[in-house]
Amino acid sequence: MRLAVEPRDLTHYPFLKESREFLAARGIKMYDLTASALGRRYLDAAVKRVQCAIDGKEIYPESPDVVADIVTYVLARVLASCIKDRNLIERLARMEAKRIYFYIHGEENEKLKSHVCETLGITFGLGTMPVLRYVELASTAREPKWRLINRDVDAGQVQISDDEQDTLLCERIRKILASQLPLTIPPSMEHEFAPWCETITTALQERTLAEFGVIDESAYPPCIQALIAGAVAGVNLTHSGRFAMTAFLSNIGMTPAQVAGILARSPDFNPDMTMYQVDHIMLHEYTTPACQTMLTYGICVNRDSLCDKASHPLGYYRSKKKQLEHRRLRVGVPAEKPKE
Ligand code: SF4
Repeated sequence: MRLAVEPRDLTHYPFLKESREFLAARGIKMYDLTASALGRRYLDAAVKRVQCAIDGKEIYPESPDVVADIVTYVLARVLASCIKDRNLIERLARMEAKRIYFYIHGEENEKLKSHVCETLGITFGLGTMPVLRYVELASTAREPKWRLINRDVDAGQVQISDDEQDTLLCERIRKILASQLPLTIPPSMEHEFAPWCETITTALQERTLAEFGVIDESAYPPCIQALIAGAVAGVNLTHSGRFAMTAFLSNIGMTPAQVAGILARSPDFNPDMTMYQVDHIMLHEYTTPACQTMLTYGICVNRDSLCDKASHPLGYYRSKKKQLEHRRLRVGVPAEKPKE
């Protein structure tokens, strides 16, 4: 017999197919939302939901209006898909994963819990995890305890405590949600939702700038400095080198035009091709690779003492910036002005 899922449960697990059926039964579609005041209110609420994700909030608060809660989940994903920014998608997936995990973890309805877990392809409470799944989920964890070499492995299963399992399951949900985005959005819908996307893009830009502050070239990690120096000297960078440099510059808040401006110093600069490549990287592959990946690509070069503590070029950049700011404060030198 089919499990009856209550409307309030659907707000906790809005990815279930029952949520789509729930909205369809009420005649709610994502088309023409802007034509009604209610539709515009849903869009405004979806923007707030995405803004919570941009601000790094862990849990988006539950709304007393069950329909609005489910619609904003769907719309938040649609808006992020219209914007197609990987950084935004990752932030949204992280927040929604924590929210979903929060409810699964405390779920008392065992049948509902297994239905949700089955939909997500996750298993609770075994105390072990297959090695391949473990490596996939623990790859983003930094602490040494997550390295496979530091784990007890028996017959292809990695031993994990309940707390560790919680962390990895939340990561699995995040990966599933992130991998589903961006959705394919028709151009007419992108056009219709453009004003709401604009609000989100501005909030994202502000957040990025607040996180990284004014761009400070002297704080770039040695690998990025080497890549920029190579580009300027006319070296034909590998795809991974070009990608790492562009993603890094974009992650610290540079616009495509500013990144293209750096590449324009290269003697064989081709404006159309450069803009195409920069746009492509920014739209589809947004995150700077971690140091371990940079090492594999052969572009972790000129390491310095700060690199010993860094696991990510962006982490290096943040630390170096702080170091330089303290040094400037000590000697009374004003911080650099933002680049135009
Ligand atoms: S350790 Fe990381 S930050 Fe340092 S050069 Fe290598 S990749 Fe860059």
